Amino acid sequence: MKSVYFDHAATTPVDRRVLERMLPFFCEVYGNPSELHKQGREARVAVDRARVQVAAAIGAGDKEIVFTAGGTESDNLALFGYLQRFEPGHFIIGSIEHPAVMEAARALNRLGWAVDFIPVDEYGTIDLDAYEQAFRDDTRLASVMFANNVIGTIQPVAELARIAHEKGAVFHTDAVQAVGSVPIDVQALGVDMLTISGHKLYGPKGIGALYVRRRPRVRLVPLFHGGGQERGLRSGTLPTPLCVGLGAAAAIAAAAMADESARLARLARRLLDGLRAALPETRLHGSLDRRIPGNLNVGFPGIDADRLLAALPELSLSTGSACSSAAVEPSYVIRALGLADADARAALRIGLGRFTTEAEIDFAVERLAAGVRSLRRADAAAGA
Ligand code: PLP
Repeated sequence: MKSVYFDHAATTPVDRRVLERMLPFFCEVYGNPSELHKQGREARVAVDRARVQVAAAIGAGDKEIVFTAGGTESDNLALFGYLQRFEPGHFIIGSIEHPAVMEAARALNRLGWAVDFIPVDEYGTIDLDAYEQAFRDDTRLASVMFANNVIGTIQPVAELARIAHEKGAVFHTDAVQAVGSVPIDVQALGVDMLTISGHKLYGPKGIGALYVRRRPRVRLVPLFHGGGQERGLRSGTLPTPLCVGLGAAAAIAAAAMADESARLARLARRLLDGLRAALPETRLHGSLDRRIPGNLNVGFPGIDADRLLAALPELSLSTGSACSSAAVEPSYVIRALGLADADARAALRIGLGRFTTEAEIDFAVERLAAGVRSLRRADAAAGA
């Protein structure tokens, strides 16, 4: 078997059905959707349809969707766009947020905002007491991710939003890893803002969206100034093919979700059972039941995951978030679970996806077990 891709938390391939729907909007319907001529109107119709599809996937209204360039921009728009309306005060985020939230929070902190980072338990679930106690009179916003990109843990989002509202703050959730993977209804959850990224749900890279609640209305200031597109919140010519791709990807994921999440959960279980049978010391990081179905994060004690990956070029795997893999420090997400450095360095993220097969799972089990055994033999021979 040639190289097998197990890094769907970092990015997904574009589903060919999505690509097919995008293609006419490059060379045939290429007008600027802001223009009133025929070409422009046709593009506008396509963008509007995509907006409805994205909204429907999360139970929102189409006027509550702002197209952006991706998850990072949506997170920044949520935090900066909301907080910059006020004099610097206080806000709250989780301690295992993606860098798109974490670094935005640090930048706001440099601008005078106080921020609390709420710890998680050994499964990666936010400490609800610490969260509730962190609110102050001047807390404007809380942002906690829906599902973590390294360990897949799903947070009690409805409860977190309810507490934030009780304390007089708005609630944002980065749902980049969750949209298209688990059911999401912004009304039932009560969230005020929610981040979506196209390339994590078999759509194109370079497109995302921010859900911004209208009733009661959440007001933002724009990060970009220009032609006033997206109701003034995000100036810049809309990329029609990318919008169409995000809409199609959201619609396909929503239609397939029930069957697909059951299939992925079965595959993840097969992978974990297979690894435990071959290597009984296998550790699972994160929660077994409160996690997105395609994510498995495991560790083999005493085995440095980067070394293991270097020995297994036939598997496209990652030790943490692709977006922060330039740093060789063990993932701060894994460390936040309370693991010692050596155990954190053993963590391996296995991201299954729409096109992952049973045969690929069995291949991964066989290759990982062989890789771990061979590193152990090498260490034993070297007297480690
Ligand atoms: N938030 C989470 C949870 C992510 O996993 C990622 C990407 O890895 C992002 C935000 C950033 O999204 P994008 O790559 O679309 O900017």
